[in-house]
Amino acid sequence: MQAQPTASHFIDGAYVEDAAGRPFESVHAATGETIARLHAATSGIVEAAMASAVRAQREWAAVAPAARARVLRRAAEIVRERNRALSELETLDTGKPIQETLVADAASGADALEWFAALAATIAGESVPLGRDFAYTRREPLGVCVGIGAWNYPTQIACWKAAPALACGNAMVFKPSEVTPLGALKLAEILIEAGAPNGLFNVVQGFGDVGAALATHADTAKVSLTGSVATGAKVYSAAAAGMRHVTMELGGKSPILVFDDASIEAAIGGAMLGNFYSAGQICSNGTRVFVQTGLLDRFLSRLTERTRAIRIGDPLDPDTQMGPLVSLAHREKVLGFVEAGRREGARLVAGGGVPKVQGYEKGAFVEPTVFADVTDDMTIAREEIFGPVMSVLSFETEEEAVARANATPFGLAAGVFTADIARAHRVAEALQAGICWINAYNLTPVEAPFGGVKRSGIGRENGRAAMDFYSQSKTIHVCLGGVDSPY
Ligand code: NAD
Repeated sequence: MQAQPTASHFIDGAYVEDAAGRPFESVHAATGETIARLHAATSGIVEAAMASAVRAQREWAAVAPAARARVLRRAAEIVRERNRALSELETLDTGKPIQETLVADAASGADALEWFAALAATIAGESVPLGRDFAYTRREPLGVCVGIGAWNYPTQIACWKAAPALACGNAMVFKPSEVTPLGALKLAEILIEAGAPNGLFNVVQGFGDVGAALATHADTAKVSLTGSVATGAKVYSAAAAGMRHVTMELGGKSPILVFDDASIEAAIGGAMLGNFYSAGQICSNGTRVFVQTGLLDRFLSRLTERTRAIRIGDPLDPDTQMGPLVSLAHREKVLGFVEAGRREGARLVAGGGVPKVQGYEKGAFVEPTVFADVTDDMTIAREEIFGPVMSVLSFETEEEAVARANATPFGLAAGVFTADIARAHRVAEALQAGICWINAYNLTPVEAPFGGVKRSGIGRENGRAAMDFYSQSKTIHVCLGGVDSPY
């Protein structure tokens, strides 16, 4: 099993290697096999990527928006044409099941390229009458934007950042997670094929130090990070020193509130999607499932039954519903949380262990796990686990559930399941989250803004909102009379 790229980095329209950089590997998490060997960027690579992006950005900003849109649209078409190959690569790089990567990864990246192509052509300013004078505004690009990715959705994250950045006339230097370096390189190839100028989207590999070098580079106008809250705090403060713009897409501990009158199958389906999709490695997951007491017993018994039926196995098998976690190291962390749940008195009702997957004994698999009788103070109810571990808590009243749901420093997402339309909207308004689903969970269409409040982040990806985070307003005041000066 091999997925070796031509070289580690993609700069100025071509693959580039610098063997002096720290070596690292991409490992297929289902088998433990090394699928690619790469080198982290040296300072020479970082400088080359930034210099080429500065050049490309000047050229690109002068391209008419409709022509920029054509490049992005063509890139979306190519991504769709190659969806199968891109999805297989994503499955090898991340361990996520092909059943998911075929529909959720490159496919959602193509949606972003297409949607922001459409928005590129709509960029406009406003005209401001001022009596005798007038002013007008221009929406201008920021310059070179740095994108730094997490490992759970490598291709989607690269597209969600590159598409609005490029639509607005910026260039991007993207650093994928060192755990999943491969998908972004394919996006770089595709953008060149689609007609983007060399250097408009460069990919440099590396660990946190490479991310930090990019985030603090003199030519960096903006940093967009998808990662943990701890990394976000570091990158945000590093960017602040240079007054750089930021978008921070960080972690969460999101609540799902299930009321007695909810459709039980829909609520369980939502809770499972919000805990087990991508083996639970999703930032917006609803890992605290608050169930009203009248529904609790039925909810738990049906949830347990449906959870035990999840098919775990080879992620390249189209029937597999759950693959391994991204790495053995990450599995250790997740199993540590499961152990903390047991120790602190939560009741394990499903999973909790390492499944036996015939022929994949070296894979980083964990069973989909459900804890009942979870209380707000337990570690598993407070910390982001980033694995397939659901905590079920019970509640009596709406006020109590909302207060407990909000009692967290995170605020990425939330869900409410109820048949009462007034309550659904009242609760959605009261929950402190950047996105709240009513009778659904984890839907992220490109048309709707996505991002967090509180410590889960700053800024928005997707939707029209993303355009505001990749452009800035300039006011041009036009004086039609003489200059009225007291001097
Ligand atoms: P991470 O924070 O460990 O790493 C994220 C990226 O930051 C990596 O590319 C890493 O190399 C880089 N990095 C690390 N230290 C850095 C530094 N000092 N300066 C610059 N870059 C640095 O996160 P991860 O483990 O890759 O991903 C999991 C986390 O990402 C979870 O907390 C998850 O919730 C979050 N996430 C958020 C979203 C979202 O949209 N809100 C989406 C996916 C993942």
